[in-house]
Amino acid sequence: MIHPDIVPEPNERVWWFIVSGNQILFAKEPANAEIPFLTSNEVPGADIEYTAKIGTYRDAPAFMLMQATPELSLPGYHWQPLRNALGFVDPNVFALGGRACQIQHFLGTHQFCGRCGSHTVQSRDELAVICPECEFTCYPRISPCIIVAIYRDVENTREVLLARGFRHPEGMFSVLAGFVESGESLEECLRREVREEANVEVTDIRYVTSQIWPFPHSLMAGFIARYAGGELALDPSELIEGGWFALDQLPQTPPSGTIASHLIATVKAEVNASS
Ligand SMILES: [Zn+2]
Repeated sequence: MIHPDIVPEPNERVWWFIVSGNQILFAKEPANAEIPFLTSNEVPGADIEYTAKIGTYRDAPAFMLMQATPELSLPGYHWQPLRNALGFVDPNVFALGGRACQIQHFLGTHQFCGRCGSHTVQSRDELAVICPECEFTCYPRISPCIIVAIYRDVENTREVLLARGFRHPEGMFSVLAGFVESGESLEECLRREVREEANVEVTDIRYVTSQIWPFPHSLMAGFIARYAGGELALDPSELIEGGWFALDQLPQTPPSGTIASHLIATVKAEVNASS
């Protein structure tokens, strides 16, 4: 649980996830410690906007510290966008860093009450902002997405459906994904997204895993599903190119550490297990 009410004990060494402007203070040499492990009096206290205990890492407490501007400097550390750390840092560091960035995004975008427009105040009891005028309490927004690796067997070859969206660099293909709409189940979302984006129908939908995607506040629910019909036709408003790729002839795909990579690996592992 996130605890804005807890501060480190005097002389207690804790992990610090120091965030400012969508960046995080990471070690220049990640082999040692990826983030600062210091007592609070060792952290230069400049311009602190918010602190909270956000979890535990390597059996020690982890705290976030939010700064208005990235002016804090610590020898051996530098500011980095969290996204750059994906696949390089320990997955637990990425998850806690994502939590810190999401909290920062939440506080930065909820300074005014959505009901009456008054200035909100930060709650110290829980992660929330409260309107002192109308008492409206607002909690962080989390946006669920589905992400799915769709596969089919053509003769004795298993193929997976990959596409390149506008945000993907040249040559990088991934599995399909999309945001859950209001009033929609994950399965309904999955069927709608693959219909809209690729004009295909799927069956045998199986949940695999989930991953936070703190850009800025998504939660990815990862599935694999079997192709059930339809002529592949990509939605040109979202996807530039794509198609069916044999598992042993994949193009460049997202790096390990991403849920897309995990889903593609899951499809591969099933083929290996059955052969
Ligand atoms: Zn209000």
